[in-house]
Amino acid sequence: MGAGVARLVVIGGGAAGMSAASAARRVAPGLDVVVCEAGGFAAYGMCGIPYYLGGVVPEAEDLLAYPPGEFRDKRGIDLRLHTWVSAIDPAAHQVRVAGPAGADGSGPLGYDALVLASGAAPVRPPVPGLDGPRVFTIRSLDEAIGLRQLLDSGTVRRAIVLGAGYVGLEAAEGLAGAGVEVEVVEALPRVLGNVDDPIAAVVQAELERHTRVRLGTRLDEVRDGGGRELTAVVGGVATSTDLVVVAAGVRPASDLLIQVGAEHLPDRSLLVDAQQRTSVPDVFAAGDCAALHHLVLGRPAWIPLGPAANKTGRVAGTVAAGGAASFRGIVGTAVVKVFGLEVARTGLTLAEAEAAGLAARAVDVVSRSRAKYYPGAQPLHVRLVHAPDGRLLGGQLAGREGAAKRIDVLATALHAGMTVADIAGLDLSYAPPFAPVYDPVLAAAIKAAGSVPSTAGGTHEPAAAPR
Ligand SMILES: Cc1cc2nc3c(=O)[nH]c(=O)nc-3n(C[C@H](O)[C@H](O)[C@H](O)COP(=O)(O)OP(=O)(O)OC[C@H]3O[C@@H](n4cnc5c(N)ncnc54)[C@H](O)[C@@H]3O)c2cc1C
Repeated sequence: MGAGVARLVVIGGGAAGMSAASAARRVAPGLDVVVCEAGGFAAYGMCGIPYYLGGVVPEAEDLLAYPPGEFRDKRGIDLRLHTWVSAIDPAAHQVRVAGPAGADGSGPLGYDALVLASGAAPVRPPVPGLDGPRVFTIRSLDEAIGLRQLLDSGTVRRAIVLGAGYVGLEAAEGLAGAGVEVEVVEALPRVLGNVDDPIAAVVQAELERHTRVRLGTRLDEVRDGGGRELTAVVGGVATSTDLVVVAAGVRPASDLLIQVGAEHLPDRSLLVDAQQRTSVPDVFAAGDCAALHHLVLGRPAWIPLGPAANKTGRVAGTVAAGGAASFRGIVGTAVVKVFGLEVARTGLTLAEAEAAGLAARAVDVVSRSRAKYYPGAQPLHVRLVHAPDGRLLGGQLAGREGAAKRIDVLATALHAGMTVADIAGLDLSYAPPFAPVYDPVLAAAIKAAGSVPSTAGGTHEPAAAPR
């Protein structure tokens, strides 16, 4: 790949696809770059949709990184909206395209290099009635605009959110912000599957302050009588609601490439090398459809999140256009706002480490976000997960302030392969309005280091009184 590339086709105009297209254009100004996007928008902040629903972000257009014209007119990228790619023919180096009705963009489209950036698709559990008009997923701006119009119509008093993962919790907050009474229904006995139980309990308590939470309960059926109200059968009991939001997880939108033999993980995320090449010649994959190298696990893993989508898109576009780039890997860092709470995680939870067959321990500390005497100090829950030899495997934080960005210290420590004793010795910042003199991350690391026999955990014991 490289010098002979005349046309790059990108499937998907999300974070990964538009990053790929923009990077390719920078590397090869003469390259024909075509982006096929099934929806009516490209390059928007999907992560902002819950805040648009709740009115924190007033207009859908506010979520656009750039208007479509910016790509066409200023960056020379042939961005085709409402354009669905239905098949890839690697032997012919062609994709099959269905453009907008009446437009001249349907049929085969040849490529020299192809980037699949088709993202992830929402899982719709096999519950009767989930295909009705008042049932929504939170995965595209087109659908979010329809949901927001319904919310603005003043006809929505109650809503059921199916799923208590991070998208479900953000959707619940958005709907509550729009004045809707929300019931969160989750089949598992706990919320937020990507943190361990002690942190999930903190999240659950916050969620219960703002919504009705039904854990270990299934949505059995949704009946649409044709009127304004729906009947939802939850845990065998019929209840009235005005709409249902399905947030039951996502799966990689990888079918187009798997159909032509691309290698993938059992969860159907596509295997790629460090340059984002798939096993299909001249075809790259980036963003939520791809598995990425997990630096803690030492193998590919599927963790679909925004920062990696942007970065892997950039790498794929650069390499596809003949430039040089590589993606080092992920550690699974994520943060979410759940009403008044910041919840963050990186690396492996204890449950994930054990599922991966790693010997792991966890320590928990409840510290404070500010000096004890400084007004407004809030409890900050910290959990560190480490190997018996002290190597950090992961961290989780939850609190009303100070969790979201402290996680980045732990993410950095994971990238550097640090032990809990190394972290305990870090020179982190201090001033009363921002942290106790021993930052909560340090306090947790000191406790963890104390449980590791071969490290000098004792040397990190607090020696001075808090200032
Ligand atoms: C509600 C919500 C909140 C989120 N919040 C966060 C957050 O706070 N932090 C974070 O890190 N991540 C967050 N994420 C995840 C993040 O948005 C994704 O990781 C990121 O958008 C992935 O980018 P992508 O380009 O791979 O996929 P997408 O953004 O999904 O883009 C894929 C595009 O491909 C198009 N497409 C698919 N198939 C075809 C086809 N056959 N032909 C043409 N076009 C096609 C789709 O229409 C879509 O526009 C959130 C996701 C959601 C849904």
